[in-house]
Amino acid sequence: MRILVTGGAGFVASHLIDILVGEGHSVYVLDSLFTGASENLDPARLAAPDRLFFAQHDIIDEFQSAEQMKKLFGEDVAFDQIYHMACPASPIHYQIDPIHTMRTSVWGTYNALELAKRVGARLLLTSTSEVYGDPEVHPQPESYKGSVNCTGPRSCYDEGKRAAETLCFDYMRKHGVVIRIARIFNTYGPRMNIHDGRVISNFIVQAIKGDPITVYGDGSQTRSFCFVSDLARGLHALMNNEETCGPINLGNPDEYSMLEMAERIIELVQSTSTVTFLPLPEDDPKVRKPVIDLARRHLQWEPVVSLRDGITESVEYFRRKVQEEQDKEKST
Ligand code: UDP
Repeated sequence: MRILVTGGAGFVASHLIDILVGEGHSVYVLDSLFTGASENLDPARLAAPDRLFFAQHDIIDEFQSAEQMKKLFGEDVAFDQIYHMACPASPIHYQIDPIHTMRTSVWGTYNALELAKRVGARLLLTSTSEVYGDPEVHPQPESYKGSVNCTGPRSCYDEGKRAAETLCFDYMRKHGVVIRIARIFNTYGPRMNIHDGRVISNFIVQAIKGDPITVYGDGSQTRSFCFVSDLARGLHALMNNEETCGPINLGNPDEYSMLEMAERIIELVQSTSTVTFLPLPEDDPKVRKPVIDLARRHLQWEPVVSLRDGITESVEYFRRKVQEEQDKEKST
């Protein structure tokens, strides 16, 4: 198949692309490189240099027409599938330019859906657990409509993704575009940006360096963390599933408080770091945990990587990254 991946240089998408290239598909990547990194595509480039195509492009700008496709990839590619994943996902990144984040979710998704409509491709949108906001229902099933603040600092992302889901459903109803929607819960693993600002990368890097572990608030807020290889498998299963069902939660239901997570990471890194408490960001959800019954039932999918194994693999990756950065600092 010919498969387009928007945001393909991002950490999650690059793991998915390894699967797609491994299956023999031709993969076309659009990425602005705002948070993605071209080096994330190196394993796929090595495996299939003639089947991986990359164009630096911000999806806010039109790419759906035949003319644009020719400019970006040298031909008007008749895509079979579109994984529409482009959007900064870390709170610090998506809040740098919130208006751009909203435009990415809404205009970017409009552009991607127009392309899907024109070439007859199936489109999978990577939505988010943020559509549930600061949830009043716990754990969160897909049927929960959410509790989202539409005027806060997180709204650009939360409401942007909610609008993106709406657009997908309207293109399905009005134009017959075949859609899939994944609501992704917190994910971690190799190829995360070392300065991503999210909790797992922060804690591991701080623990490696022996710096204080920055727990926001009193650390009682919870999250449920999925290792990236499990998530990539889930996205692939959802895209290729023939039943049209609504949005599907993809995440690991193992729930931890941030204080517990800090202690686990200190232990696994065998670090001398201690915990320091910083103010809780505005609108920070107090709990988050997916109900994954639909994914189990429709996709026969569930996460298999334990937190211990996932963190251990991530620590190896972050140790290399910290070392690279320290070597670079020394040489300049
Ligand atoms: N968090 C923290 N210390 C950090 C980074 C994040 O305690 O250095 C907390 C944050 O307040 C939130 C949770 O960890 O409650 C997860 O934050 P993250 O930014 O990873 O993702 P979110 O789930 O909020 O989108």
